[in-house]
Amino acid sequence: MTNLSELPLRDDLVGQLPYGAPQAVVPVALNVNENTHGIPEDVAHDIVARVAAAVLSVNRYPDREFTELRESFARYLGHGLDASNIWAANGSNEVLQHILQAFGGPGRSLLGFTPTYSMYPLLAAGTGTEWIGVPRAADYTITPDAAAAAMREHQPDIVFLCSPNNPTGTPLGLDVIEAVYAASQYENGAAIVVVDEAYAEFSPEGTPSALTLLPGRPRLLVSRTMSKAFAFAGARVGYLAADAAVTDALRLVRLPYHLSAFTQAAANAALAHSEEMLGMVGEIREQRDRLLRELRALGYAPYDSASNFVLFGGVEDPHAVFEALLARGILIREVSLPGQLRVTAGTETETTAFLEALAAVGPNGRGPSAE
Ligand SMILES: *Cc1c(COP(=O)(O)O)cnc(C)c1O
Repeated sequence: MTNLSELPLRDDLVGQLPYGAPQAVVPVALNVNENTHGIPEDVAHDIVARVAAAVLSVNRYPDREFTELRESFARYLGHGLDASNIWAANGSNEVLQHILQAFGGPGRSLLGFTPTYSMYPLLAAGTGTEWIGVPRAADYTITPDAAAAAMREHQPDIVFLCSPNNPTGTPLGLDVIEAVYAASQYENGAAIVVVDEAYAEFSPEGTPSALTLLPGRPRLLVSRTMSKAFAFAGARVGYLAADAAVTDALRLVRLPYHLSAFTQAAANAALAHSEEMLGMVGEIREQRDRLLRELRALGYAPYDSASNFVLFGGVEDPHAVFEALLARGILIREVSLPGQLRVTAGTETETTAFLEALAAVGPNGRGPSAE
């Protein structure tokens, strides 16, 4: 085996690190914002039945245009969308990659408001797109004016707005999206504006989706995933809604038959039971709100979250706390923000286990503080 430095790696990939959330088998995994509730058994049976039926014709390639799945997503999203407005891929990460392959690349740029999803700069690097990270305010919010000013200053080809934002949980008002879209209409063309709604289902009841802004905005793309609220992370299914010309363009960069027959069958089955699949969302919101309350009571400084996770500050030694929790079988997330850690809202039992362990290990991992 040679080593990495001897390989003829692309110059722009030298020194990059792969996406690296630690994967470990632990009793309580609250590190990658999955839905920690298993899927309902009757839905599981239906999924297995549809996948089993798909096996019988697996000698043939699947429907390259995943028509039935697009219809299922259009039905699920509503908002007057039809199959022509829908795109899907193996996780919304692949959807985002398709967007960069089609609209980014060498000589083009992607703007995001940092800290934000760690995959955005990696996807930019992988596609040779320049990454422009614009810092958020100290409380991680973005105002319409600041966002529009950043657009005017940098004039990116693409902008990713994470709503609510990962890893901070920060909700994003439609006014920010409207301001960014308005500022993205440059004299010599217009940018592609992507709203990543990976966690939208966890927002407070009645929060409007960026889907409501699609009419009249042909360069607005709203991406979603089945990995979080939908409890389907292992199946790898993400999707987006946009003008039909955009979904048509994305066909230029996808690999033929990128969604396997099994993926399409499983996702169609799950979508046929969408209400049941989303049945735990209310309970997860309650555990998130409980995390916000109880972390504050323990003396930490949690950030407002409209998502299924909470970022909290006031941690003296984040790495020591992470390790001390791991030693107790609880995996959370180090996010390389000073004094801060992120935790996913789990089941009531998992959330209790986390809060009790955190109280025991204290803010420096060596036990509760002396006061
Ligand atoms: C988890 C997550 C995704 C979804 O990833 P998948 O590839 O669909 O599993 C997308 N965006 C953000 C911000 C996320 O946190």
